[in-house]
Amino acid sequence: MATQQVTLGSRLDTALEARGISRRSFLKYCAGVAAMIGLSEAAAPQVAQALDNVIGETEGNLKPVIWMEGASCSGCSESFVQTDAPDVATCVLELLSVNYNELLSAASGYSLEEARKETMAAGNYILVYEGAVVKGWEGNALRVAGEKGTDSLLEAAYNAEAVIALGSCACDGGWQAARPNPANAEGVQKFLDDNGITTPVINIPCCPANPEWFTAVVVEYLLLGQLPELNSKNEPKLMFNETIHDNCPRRGHFENGEFVYQFGSEEEKKGYCLYAVGCKGPQTFTNCPIVKWNRRSSWCVEAGAPCQGCGVVTPNKPTRNWVDENTPFLKRHRYFQIGDWKSSPAGWAGVITGVVVAALAIHACGMKATKRTQGGADFETVRVYDVKHDNKQAEEYGETANKLYGELDAKGLEDRKIKDPKKQQNG
Ligand code: SF4
Ligand code: SF4
Repeated sequence: MATQQVTLGSRLDTALEARGISRRSFLKYCAGVAAMIGLSEAAAPQVAQALDNVIGETEGNLKPVIWMEGASCSGCSESFVQTDAPDVATCVLELLSVNYNELLSAASGYSLEEARKETMAAGNYILVYEGAVVKGWEGNALRVAGEKGTDSLLEAAYNAEAVIALGSCACDGGWQAARPNPANAEGVQKFLDDNGITTPVINIPCCPANPEWFTAVVVEYLLLGQLPELNSKNEPKLMFNETIHDNCPRRGHFENGEFVYQFGSEEEKKGYCLYAVGCKGPQTFTNCPIVKWNRRSSWCVEAGAPCQGCGVVTPNKPTRNWVDENTPFLKRHRYFQIGDWKSSPAGWAGVITGVVVAALAIHACGMKATKRTQGGADFETVRVYDVKHDNKQAEEYGETANKLYGELDAKGLEDRKIKDPKKQQNG
């Protein structure tokens, strides 16, 4: 990589040196960012230069960020901060001033809430929301600093330049919205839409969200002055336009029909495809196989775990969250669902089998009762019903048939055991 083409400013240079990051690895990182925001990897030096310029220009005037948590496990924050230190991503975060973060801020209580209010009043900030919005008990399912969580979100989103919904919980409710969803959880986009807030929302899914996706969105916004192009789910289009299956290193085994059917088997040792043990890679649109996790060292399928589809989000339908959609995780079949009613294919197979067995049993009993199992039932030339209801025309047809059978019998054919209901009724 052409490190000589880049002249980094002293602030970025110092930041890299302090973290023990070489220019080569910084440029490699910039190439990844360039690819995620739709530029050629050859644009890495320009991305680095632009980052450097922004850092120089914004010194002492960093982009303010309010990072709020709804119903979350803080895993997305953890994922973000637990990258191998020192990490290039942390250096890029020199661009931001995280004024409010319930997990990371040194301040707490009154002073932290004051920082949030001051940032909101000043405007020109980005809101990052992690976790689900919980509306249960009129918004009292979550209270922060004496306020309803829902009120705090509306207040913070109203003045923000953009809202980044970080992690699947923030996108559509995720785990928190899984049935029976007593806290009435849903995603940020739907909640803001329903409350008439028009601030743009960028959904970054997965559980947790990959920090590289987050930094790529921030970098694009700060470098190019624009939000990323979004798909129909408000996800950055370039990062979420291909399935895991499209880029999976085990794809060759899938094509060859080589599957793992049991963990601990020879097939698993050979690294075969995990489709048969529940891999949801074919229906999950994320670039995990390319970006990976933990400084690009590995990811779920590479580590031997089937993809669980945590990147599948439906922002406007919290009842179709990835947990409800993809469980049971280690099986391929999915639930059949109509509205809130849900049933598994295994249950349906049981019901259908039961109905078929019952129908066959009733049929067999009917056959036995009518003596069809003993050489056939008596042949009725006139239906009992017609005799009872005095249906003359049917009787005439019956008599004609009786006569014909009599002629056939006279020619030596086997006796058809013709039953005459008229005689039976009279006699
Ligand atoms: S998306 Fe996953 S990691 Fe992030 S807050 Fe929700 S449960 Fe935690
Ligand atoms: S392991 Fe999953 S994503 Fe990879 S090829 Fe198999 S089904 Fe597709």
